Amino acid sequence: MATTPADIRIPTDLLPGDGRFGAGPSKVRDAQVSALAAAGRSPLGTSHRQEPVRALVRRIRTGLAELFALPEGYEVALGNGGSTAFWDVATFCLVRERAQHAAFGEFGAKFAKATSRAPFLAPSSVVEAPAGTVAHCRAEEGVDVYAWPHNETSTGAACPVERVAGSREAGALTVIDGTSAAGGLAVDVAQSDAYYFAPQKSFGSDGGLWLALLSPDAVARAAELEAERWVPEFLSLTTALTNSRQDQTLNTPAIATLLLMAEQLDWMLEQGGLAWTTARTAASAAHLYGWAGSRPWATPFVTDPAERSDVVGTIDLDDALPAGEVLAALRANGVVDAFAYRKLGRNQLRVAMFPAIDPEDVAAFTACVDFVVERLG
Ligand SMILES: *Cc1c(COP(=O)(O)O)cnc(C)c1O
Repeated sequence: MATTPADIRIPTDLLPGDGRFGAGPSKVRDAQVSALAAAGRSPLGTSHRQEPVRALVRRIRTGLAELFALPEGYEVALGNGGSTAFWDVATFCLVRERAQHAAFGEFGAKFAKATSRAPFLAPSSVVEAPAGTVAHCRAEEGVDVYAWPHNETSTGAACPVERVAGSREAGALTVIDGTSAAGGLAVDVAQSDAYYFAPQKSFGSDGGLWLALLSPDAVARAAELEAERWVPEFLSLTTALTNSRQDQTLNTPAIATLLLMAEQLDWMLEQGGLAWTTARTAASAAHLYGWAGSRPWATPFVTDPAERSDVVGTIDLDDALPAGEVLAALRANGVVDAFAYRKLGRNQLRVAMFPAIDPEDVAAFTACVDFVVERLG
């Protein structure tokens, strides 16, 4: 009889091949890490202004263009600072007067806060919905940017990328946080003007970088605003774009992050691109939600199946079954990071199902939870 959750030993044949289920940073495949060490041809520790690192940036830009079937005229830009930095980039360079945000979790709310606090903008319009559901932007006079997360990583709810009717004709941009969705959820990039993300989620790389797929309208908006508004150089989208076009970043990037990202992109494209990655995340999600629905002590947190994310699954547990104990037992067996977003404060498991994560490992994860729950009584 186990005395504490951490004493529970899960039989090895139940364990996943890889025990990383965190929603970011997320599982990095071994083949990516091996590429970092590739003898004699590693660009680590070399200048980011020279060809080997610029070739890496080029590989990422062309890889993303292929993966997302980039519409005519769209461009791939990148810079340092992660998605959080891009919120400030967008606040300065994309919002002319007033943004409208759909906020239904931590990340959507954070961007809303960034634009709301900018002294040179009108207070943002925020359409809210409770965690575990989805809010939709709606046409509003005077709004020149509509923004929402494609996947709300803090709650496991996903919202389709589809322009607000009439918004483009009214001259408004659509700015989508694809941080955890990009690479793992289907998207028609033409429905957005800026689809931005960071590499440590669905791309299984490391953090610190932002990447954005920009429409000609977004590029023009940045040029217009930066001509009339002071913008810190680090947050200038035009400067980022100028550097990106030369396969560089404004300042020194983490070369390891670039390399891990390029390896993951090549892998995704070799396997069949977004059609393959999204089929894989859908298979993982179908298993996870089906499993939760069939256990009396588990319930998918997102009640509307249409709003459930295929890349981040949130499963509420019965109050009699503390998630902390389940997580402690899992961690003691090398199955890690399936904790709920801390500010959500729910008795919940949150399971990343990014493309790098094998659907068989998601099945193994649920078998491990079953085993632990049985032992915990
Ligand atoms: C992780 C995450 C962010 C923050 O990304 P950073 O690169 O850490 O700034 C923003 N939005 C969403 C949807 C995320 O999942």
